[in-house]
Amino acid sequence: MKTEKLTAADVEQAAAILARGGLLGIPTETVYGLGANGLDPEAVAHIFEAKGRPQDNPLILHVPSAEWLERYCQHIPNAAYTLAERFWPGPLTMILERKPVVPDVVTAGLDTVGMRCPAHPVCRAIIAAAGVPVAAPSGNTSGRPSPTNMADMLEDMEGKIDGIVDGGPCSVGVESTIIDLTEQPPRLLRPGGVTLEELRDALGEVAVDPAVTRLMGAGEHPRAPGMKYRHYAPKAPVTVVKGDAAATAAYIQAHLGEGEGVVCFDEYADLYAGHTVEKLGPTADKAAQARNVFDALRAFDDTNVTAIWSQCPDEGGIGLAISNRLNKAAGFHIIDLT
Ligand code: AMP
Ligand code: MG
Repeated sequence: MKTEKLTAADVEQAAAILARGGLLGIPTETVYGLGANGLDPEAVAHIFEAKGRPQDNPLILHVPSAEWLERYCQHIPNAAYTLAERFWPGPLTMILERKPVVPDVVTAGLDTVGMRCPAHPVCRAIIAAAGVPVAAPSGNTSGRPSPTNMADMLEDMEGKIDGIVDGGPCSVGVESTIIDLTEQPPRLLRPGGVTLEELRDALGEVAVDPAVTRLMGAGEHPRAPGMKYRHYAPKAPVTVVKGDAAATAAYIQAHLGEGEGVVCFDEYADLYAGHTVEKLGPTADKAAQARNVFDALRAFDDTNVTAIWSQCPDEGGIGLAISNRLNKAAGFHIIDLT
């Protein structure tokens, strides 16, 4: 199949691809998504094929406003409207009880559905023009780091999707925060652009799913089915070194072997001359680190590095999301100097 490359001006063409049951690469503020008409089970099934995604890992339904929640969800708690008011459009997905109209293939048979209203203006225009909820996961091949620009998504999806819209580089860079509102207290299933601190400010108590910060053991079942799968991982094994930035930089310098690569804060890049180095961003700029983390991990797949060492921000603010993605890329292989 030929993948049509569209621009922000081609909203009608993009919506037409969705309307005829096609697959569309869509820019969002978090990462590029692989979208299809969320009410068309056959179209949605093609998403799983293109990604090589396990059938039991549900998708998120993207809608143009909170007013669409009642179409697809029932027994909606007040917390959902509180969060929508504060954080939508934006990088927040809410897990709610679904209505039967939502196809099983979208929710992987669960009685809940993930709902998000994205902020990217091109994405919003496409959803509005299509007039249907858009089911989408991240636009990477299953297991690989998520794409944060059109070129990264084409690397995985060229020839497998009908079209892709170039909306520029993603402004957040990590996937949406997922909060489960079907439990009391609400539970954070995946950290993202809306921070845990912001959620607690809006709702009071918010629990954190154990899968956010540690590896799930055999027989344990995380509440976000996606969390049990290997994720975000480059081909070479990753080791994350946590702690004070200067200390972790020195630790990596002391342990770095021939042919091994480094993900580091910008200030420390000079320590690793002769190695493949990907800069995460300035130590103090977590927003930049979130934008860069997936591209940094992806870059190593074009090299022959045999192992990757990575610095990591602390877990405050969006640092929790960055640290979660790096830990998962490392299979929770972490050296903790704190
Ligand atoms: P992706 O953004 O590619 O990671 O895919 C969507 C994420 O949302 C996956 O981690 C899913 O497991 C998660 N998700 C979608 N729907 C639900 C749901 N009903 N309950 C829990 N997690 C969900
Ligand atoms: Mg994904």
